[in-house]
Amino acid sequence: MTTIDQKAVDRAKQLIDGAKRIAITIHLSPDGDAMGSAHALKHLLYRLGKTDITIIAPNEFPHFLNWLPEAENVLLYDKQKAEAEKAFNDADLIICADYNEPKRIGNMGEALLASKAKKIMIDHHVGPSDFADVTLSYPQMPSCCELIYHVICGMGYKNLIDKTIATCIYTGMMTDTVNFSVNFEDPDTYLILADLLHLGINRNEIYSNVYNQYSANRERLVGYCLYKKMTIYPEYRTALIALTGKELYPFNFQSGDAEGIVNIPLQIADVDMSVFMREDKDKIKISFRSKGDLATNKFAKIYFNGGGHKNAAGGESHTTIPDTIKHFEECLPKLKDCQ
Ligand code: 5GP
Ligand code: MN
Repeated sequence: MTTIDQKAVDRAKQLIDGAKRIAITIHLSPDGDAMGSAHALKHLLYRLGKTDITIIAPNEFPHFLNWLPEAENVLLYDKQKAEAEKAFNDADLIICADYNEPKRIGNMGEALLASKAKKIMIDHHVGPSDFADVTLSYPQMPSCCELIYHVICGMGYKNLIDKTIATCIYTGMMTDTVNFSVNFEDPDTYLILADLLHLGINRNEIYSNVYNQYSANRERLVGYCLYKKMTIYPEYRTALIALTGKELYPFNFQSGDAEGIVNIPLQIADVDMSVFMREDKDKIKISFRSKGDLATNKFAKIYFNGGGHKNAAGGESHTTIPDTIKHFEECLPKLKDCQ
């Protein structure tokens, strides 16, 4: 049973009580957990009588999350900078959900740090930086959404969790555990799921809203990755898929299309780590996944300026795909030190 620091929860509650204009911020390339966390909090704040609440994301979220209640109102910092800056300036409280340091929100980090608003961090990544007035950091939590459930209960607001809030919480619990298949051992998590189900959430619909929304092009991209692009390094029990921007054109690549591809090579019995590299506009985005004790966050942090969790981490590179692959291959012998 994870116990949450009640004093910190009480301080967060006090800050929320005293706040009129609240901004909720989430990490770059928001995923189901970031979006679920932000929307669960937004709807809780509505139930508390707050009306001026803005969710700000650094950039676009995947289209398969646009059914979340009020997802259409999320401000995208890269596309709606003036409105987002105004929300930062006007806010008297900023909640930072599902990220542990300003770097994880890209350029938006400057606006966050410049704001005079009080800040609450609610997160489950290791090594939180010390920028918030209240830090609720629990890396043992499988998802930030699960942590938010505990925080809401700790504030004494369990009775305010309705079907809408439960749906948002379930979304992040489901996506960060890859539909409850990884990082999902704590019996207490099942109790929370039971609670959410009693609140009437439709888990089949949530699953389908998230996982059954791909285009035919995206499925063809998966085929291309596995058939043409997967390299196995047997000595290191590692699989790599790396795509240049040019290779994505024929598949009419949309944000979210790469989601999940990195998990597939882990189904191979002889593979313990899967790595997916994709050339984006301004950088190469790298995803790492592992089985067992291999700490991908350690590998990502040391060699690819990244971080994350033991079995799921991310990083980046600012060279080309061939150079990034070369660097990766040079780093592979060090993998044994990342247990
Ligand atoms: P994904 O591969 O799905 O983008 O990310 C997997 C996990 O690693 C997520 O928990 C995400 O927050 C974290 N992560 C992804 N990219 C980065 C990064 O560049 N830096 C850090 N510190 N964490 C990252
Ligand atoms: Mn998360």
